[in-house]
Amino acid sequence: MVQRKVTYRLYPTPRQIEALERLRWVHCLLWNTALDERRRAWAYQQKSLSFSDQCKALTGWRSRSPLLRSVNAQSEQVTLKRLDLAFQHFFRRVKRGETPGYPRFKPLHRFKGWGYSKHGDGWKLLSGPGMKHGKLRLSGVGEVRIRGKARTVGTPKTCEILHRCGKWYASVTVECEPERQGGERIGGLDWGVETLATIASAEGVERIENPRHLQRSLERIGALQKRISRKEEAAKQASGKKKGFPVSKRLRKEYALLAGVHEKVANQRRDFLHKTSARLIATFAVLGLEALNIRRMTAKGGTYKRGLNRSILDAAGSMLHQMLRYKAEEAGALAIEADPRQLKPSQRCHRCGRQEKKPLSQRWHDCPCGVSCSRDENAARVLMGWVMERIGGREPAEAWREVDLSLPGEPALPWKRETPAIPLGWRE
Ligand SMILES: [Zn+2]
Repeated sequence: MVQRKVTYRLYPTPRQIEALERLRWVHCLLWNTALDERRRAWAYQQKSLSFSDQCKALTGWRSRSPLLRSVNAQSEQVTLKRLDLAFQHFFRRVKRGETPGYPRFKPLHRFKGWGYSKHGDGWKLLSGPGMKHGKLRLSGVGEVRIRGKARTVGTPKTCEILHRCGKWYASVTVECEPERQGGERIGGLDWGVETLATIASAEGVERIENPRHLQRSLERIGALQKRISRKEEAAKQASGKKKGFPVSKRLRKEYALLAGVHEKVANQRRDFLHKTSARLIATFAVLGLEALNIRRMTAKGGTYKRGLNRSILDAAGSMLHQMLRYKAEEAGALAIEADPRQLKPSQRCHRCGRQEKKPLSQRWHDCPCGVSCSRDENAARVLMGWVMERIGGREPAEAWREVDLSLPGEPALPWKRETPAIPLGWRE
């Protein structure tokens, strides 16, 4: 079983917004109260309060406060747990000899949200088939309309309600059976015509060549095509017609043969790409790619390997990317595409970042900084650097969660969030 995060955008009614705002306010008060309690305990008694100490205190506070009582008890414990995690983080850093900031009181505008730790207790996900869209029932709020979709359907476990830029989101942790298991490596993959893929990672550079049998089939297609056009030319000459010339039995046979080889190439290619992408996703957690549809638009000019083989191999590039992306989704890994117009992987130096226009025919990257490697290797390394920067040095699994917060049509949320995710199984 693995855990995935699914983010839904909430569409509350004005009355529901009021209720959500009220919940946020109560959780914010609780955070500040609990923080104050910890500070006092330390200042007056040199006593470190634990999470369970504060849970006990919460029971007392609830008995005295109708406001706290009006909110789901378990979600209040989650806020206490978050505070506990903030302290644990603080003490870990102190131990490492750093000088971290003490956990802070939060004004309401800096308080991002709250969470629930058990499905059915204070919240219930009522999503449609395939965990797509539907409603979210929140105690004290009602049934809120939601939009979003799970990649892999599973059992909802925990939920976080987030308020950001005037919008509300629910980030639901789902436990599911992985259809595929991802690896742990991080790398950049540059797709090319001669070398199918060049992959740069901390372990070094790896090349995947187009398979020989595919090359042989491509040569076969070339030879057949030549023969066919010779025959067509002869038929045109003999009949005097450019179009609608009589097709001989022999020529018809050649057409059928060519169609057969084309199909064979398509099958070989698909098969090879399936195996290659599956193998890559089995070892990589994060892969940076270059968006190809945009690259082709910008790579105009240059007579480098035009023609039939090029077009067949070109199609392989977008097919490979597509396979990597959906297999990554299945595995809970990431295959993300960079906009080549901004990143310019083929022009930028992977070490110093210097940009230099290179014609497509220039297959070597030489930079004044001393880097000398193949063009493909440099591009793969640029993509690796880009993807490392995007996940910000965090564990791939963590980064995945953050990325998942971006919704279609919504701007991606920033990498750093105020509220730490609630780990499953913290309940004591
Ligand atoms: Zn350089």
